[in-house]
Amino acid sequence: MNSDERFAKLVDKKNHLRSVLEKVGVGKGHHLVLHASYRKIRSAFPGLTIKNLLETLQKLLTPAGSLIMPTFTYCFKKKLGNSKIYSPDLTPSEVGAVSEYFRHMPGVTRTASPTHSFALWGKVSSEIMSENCPASPLGKGSVLEWITNQPQSYILGMGIDFSAMSYCHYLEIQAKVPWADVFPWDFMGIEKKGVSITGEQILIEVPGCSKSFINFEKYLLQNKFIISFQHRHLNIYYMPVKLLYEQGMVYFKENYIDMLCEPGKCQACDVRRQLIRKMDP
Ligand SMILES: [Zn+2]
Repeated sequence: MNSDERFAKLVDKKNHLRSVLEKVGVGKGHHLVLHASYRKIRSAFPGLTIKNLLETLQKLLTPAGSLIMPTFTYCFKKKLGNSKIYSPDLTPSEVGAVSEYFRHMPGVTRTASPTHSFALWGKVSSEIMSENCPASPLGKGSVLEWITNQPQSYILGMGIDFSAMSYCHYLEIQAKVPWADVFPWDFMGIEKKGVSITGEQILIEVPGCSKSFINFEKYLLQNKFIISFQHRHLNIYYMPVKLLYEQGMVYFKENYIDMLCEPGKCQACDVRRQLIRKMDP
């Protein structure tokens, strides 16, 4: 293949991705949180790079919209020994290759939360400052609260299920599930504090285990509140935040027990379950 042919093939690949994204609903001025498995995207769009993916999204959204990705690093204070210290410039994202690439792109800022930072591009980066570091990392004052208050906001999931859906942690807090402020990670030898280059921060409403958020996903699919688009074997969700919030308030308030793993299967969820037993003997 000569370089012209290679270029033609690349243009074709990008156009193909663009048309799929347009079909699911991505449009100008939307504010979008992206959760992406690059491994699964690449198998549906062979040869597509992370750069192609993110630039295609930016072109569709335009700077009037926003592209947001979690770049969590979980820099909690350790009870013993040295804690990992979060530096927005230096600490790699622990939630996937796409987010790690995105945070380095031109015009992208990153928030200061030692445990649950976000990378931001577009309108959001002029409204949420890089100092953003709420005591409730995914609650009040967080990027997830901002996205809830935007008229045209969406969550785009590519190759992921709801166990990767950070927004469900915001729903837990808003629906006031009984364990929202129970710290479940004591057994990991960490404290309810974040550590960054600016010092230590006492946290509230630290997110727990997210595995059982797939029960909310099943509920939304069964009731046809959301649709799963299939492209080859890639599962794509494009979900209005408003819809997730409204359904989440109903579902999380009534079925909060389904948001914990089965008893004995997950230490973090067991900690939270014990609390409910104490409240409801
Ligand atoms: Zn669990």
